Amino acid sequence: MSELFDASVYADRLGRAQGLLRERGLAGIVIGPGPELAYLTGSWTSSHERLTALTVTPTKSRLIAPETDLHSLADSAVSELDVEVLGWADGEDAHALAAAPVLEGDADGAVGLGDSLTTRHVLALQELFAPRETKVAALALAELFTRKDAAEIEQLRAAGRAIDAVHAKVPELLRAGRTEAEVAADIDKLILERHGVVDFVIVGSGPNGANPHHDFSDRVLEDGDIVVVDIGGTYGVGYHSDCTRTYVVGGDPATLPEEARSMYAVLAEAQEAAVAAVRPGVTAASIDDVARSRITEAGYGEAYFHRTGHGIGLSTHEEPFIMAGNDLVLEPGMAFSVEPGIYLRGRFGARIEDIVVVTEDGCERLNEGPRELR
Ligand code: ZN
Ligand code: ZN
Repeated sequence: MSELFDASVYADRLGRAQGLLRERGLAGIVIGPGPELAYLTGSWTSSHERLTALTVTPTKSRLIAPETDLHSLADSAVSELDVEVLGWADGEDAHALAAAPVLEGDADGAVGLGDSLTTRHVLALQELFAPRETKVAALALAELFTRKDAAEIEQLRAAGRAIDAVHAKVPELLRAGRTEAEVAADIDKLILERHGVVDFVIVGSGPNGANPHHDFSDRVLEDGDIVVVDIGGTYGVGYHSDCTRTYVVGGDPATLPEEARSMYAVLAEAQEAAVAAVRPGVTAASIDDVARSRITEAGYGEAYFHRTGHGIGLSTHEEPFIMAGNDLVLEPGMAFSVEPGIYLRGRFGARIEDIVVVTEDGCERLNEGPRELR
C-alpha cells in the first residue's frame, strides 16, 4: 500500500494509545508488522523472522527494525511521528531493544503484545517482561483497535461502494455454459478496477454453494443454479471490502423449487433482523443469536454452522467476532460483517453479507446492493 492518511491521523492514534495505557495502568504494548503496525504508523513493512516492533509506553514510542529494513519505513508516516527509530544488526539483542522502553519506564502493569508477533518473539518478550503479565494488545486496548475513527469509516464506506459496484455486474457474468472459474476471473478484473488488491473470490454454484469454504472450480453453470458470490478486495490505505450476494443463473427465482425460495426468505429475514439488532450496548453474541434463532426456528439450525460475522478494517477478519460466547459489548465505530448462511449439503447454499458500522443509536450499512435472489 502506498497511500497513507495524513500524519496527524497516526499521531492521534499513538496519542490515544498512550492515553489508554495510562488509564488502564498498562506498562506498554509491543506491536509487530501487520495491520496493527499499519494502523499506528502507516507502515506495512515486513522483516520476516527478524524482529521489527513498535513499542509504545505511556510516555514514549520506539520502533526497532533490522538495519537492512529501515529504508522500507520511508513508505510510512514514521518520520513525521514522535517515534524513536533504531536499527539493529545481527548479534544485537533485538528483543531487549524493543523491551527497554517498558523496562525503563516506571509503570509496572501488564504489557500488551500484538497479534502478528510470532511465537519466538512472544516467548522472548514474555521472558524479558516477567513478572509483568502479558496480554493480547487488541483486547487490552479494544476501543483503540476495534473502534474505527472517522478516517477509517470513510475508507470502509468507500470500500463498500467499490465492492457494491462489482456485485452490480455479477448477474450478467452468471450465464449457463460458463464455468465458476471463468466468472471468477472476470470478477477479479472488476475488483481490480476499484481496489488495489483482490483478497478473495468465491463463486459457489449449485452444490458448491453449500460449502462456505469453496472458492471456485471448473463446474459449468446451468440455468436455475443458485450461486453464492462472496468477494472482497483491499482499498485505499489498506481497508477491506467483503460482501456476499446469492444469485440465480438465468436471473429468475420463480424457476426455483418452492423449498429454495422459502429457505432464502428465512435467510433474508434473519440477516435483516440481525442488522436491525446492532446498536451500542448489546453484545457481539446477541447479534449472532438473533440470526441463528430465526434460522433454527425455521428448521435450518444444523444448516447454519458458522459464526454470524467478523470485524473488518486493515485486516479482513478481526474483533469483534459475532459469535456465541463473545461478550464484547458493541460500541460506536465498531465495524463488522453480518453474514448468516444456510447450506444444504450436496444441493445448494445461500449467504447474505453486509458490512455494518455501529453508530450512536444503531448501525450504518456499508453495502447497499439488492439482497433478494436475482
Ligand atoms: Zn465474505
Ligand atoms: Zn465476511
